Amino acid sequence: MAPVRVAIGGISHESSTFATVPTTLTDFEQRHLAAGEGLLARFSGTRTAIGGFLDAAREGDFEVVPTIAASATPGGPVTAEATRVLVERLTEGLRGALAAGPVTGVLLDLHGAMVSELDDDGEGFILRAVREVVGPDLPVLVDLDLHGNVTQEMVDLATVTIAYDEYPHIDPYDRGHELGLLLARIVRDEVKPATALVKIPIIAGLQRQYTHAEPMLGVKRLAHEIEREPGMLAVSYLPGFAWADIPPTGFSVIATSDGDAVRAREAAERLARFVWDRRGEFVVRPVPVEEAVRRAMAASAGPVVLADIGDNPGGGTPADGTTLLDALLRLGATRAALAPLRDPEAVTEASAAGEGARISLRLGGKTDPFHGEPLAVSGRVVRITDGRFVHTGPMSTGISINLGPTAVLALDGQDGGEVEVVVTSHRYQPTDLGIFRAQGIEPTDRQILAVKSSVHFRAAFEPIARDIIEVDTPGLTSPHLDNLEFRRLTRPIYPFDPEMTWHP
Ligand SMILES: [Zn+2]
Repeated sequence: MAPVRVAIGGISHESSTFATVPTTLTDFEQRHLAAGEGLLARFSGTRTAIGGFLDAAREGDFEVVPTIAASATPGGPVTAEATRVLVERLTEGLRGALAAGPVTGVLLDLHGAMVSELDDDGEGFILRAVREVVGPDLPVLVDLDLHGNVTQEMVDLATVTIAYDEYPHIDPYDRGHELGLLLARIVRDEVKPATALVKIPIIAGLQRQYTHAEPMLGVKRLAHEIEREPGMLAVSYLPGFAWADIPPTGFSVIATSDGDAVRAREAAERLARFVWDRRGEFVVRPVPVEEAVRRAMAASAGPVVLADIGDNPGGGTPADGTTLLDALLRLGATRAALAPLRDPEAVTEASAAGEGARISLRLGGKTDPFHGEPLAVSGRVVRITDGRFVHTGPMSTGISINLGPTAVLALDGQDGGEVEVVVTSHRYQPTDLGIFRAQGIEPTDRQILAVKSSVHFRAAFEPIARDIIEVDTPGLTSPHLDNLEFRRLTRPIYPFDPEMTWHP
């Protein structure tokens, strides 16, 4: 048998159509845009989907041809220019691979919720371009984030589509590895995947998508049960990304059987009915801001983690929301730390003042009108850093993070209160304790840790938290979805149309 040669790559973005700042090529360069040998160097040994592809390839003795891997922090739709450049670089890599010898298959790490200025269905756009190069028959296996808003076209263009099982996403490596092993079985003619997609009309806030509690725990269990049945290859559930005002937004189930399309459809429908029956449990009920801060201050022991769920840059927000910081200062919280707050102007001012200096400035609330006003604050510059650290926790282990120039400020609150704030130049969702530790703040020593994150923070912070409170802050990832003006969503959809009926 000829040696197995596999092209790997990925373009990944979660796009909020409500975010006011579009996502450009520079945003990808800032997070990561690696090609060829640089891709291998960056991802070998990491707990990422591409790290999983690489290990599966090594175990299966495949030759790997790297193309490009690009990812940007969630934000507004990807510009036409960035889409063209990235897709061109990916297809160029594939053409190069084909020119150098026969290619047996393609492994792609995509997201599923990328909206491009060129196409609502970013992944459909990418996969169409890939198929133009590799033809209709070559196995193209795709992994998605479970926040993907899946389309029939994506699933049709891919040979197999699977998604992360876990939110927080602690399993991209395992899914990448699984996909690599499945490709090996396909090229050895052991299995012939048949896939079915069922779209469920539910739009779900992020907090109840957490896969270690109900309702998602039950969804995950049933999916795994079905997946283990003889003849089934994979079952995925994607609650989707609500902040995309496009027709495909909603909950998806994808089932893949070995050669039996009817079987795949039945499996997907069974899981979809289970999800639909629990639709009411996907509605999020966060705690009002002042009540949350008072509870955290009154707790007998810390750290109490306050999740600033309205301003989660992982969902495309600016990360400069001030509502929670304002409440912490006004109510006189102490031994409190907040991260991150993106404000490059403030970092420049703090750097100019220097470590140890007293400073007064306007902080945050500068990007859009949805995340609070700039705050007039005073305090001390504790530390200036380059904002670089490496993830050591359970999410994206081994990946290096660049917050840009970063300042730790200790801000004066009411009644002698003090709140430390990690002020960054770039946006970042705090998914690793390194966000505090790399800035000299030991998170286990604090009473209150405020983090701009919806759910992902739980992977690193739950083990050290005495309590976690989901705070009802305003912003573009607030779970009050009915405050957003949707125009293009497919209706009816639950919970906007609560009386609707549906069956797969
Ligand atoms: Zn996600």
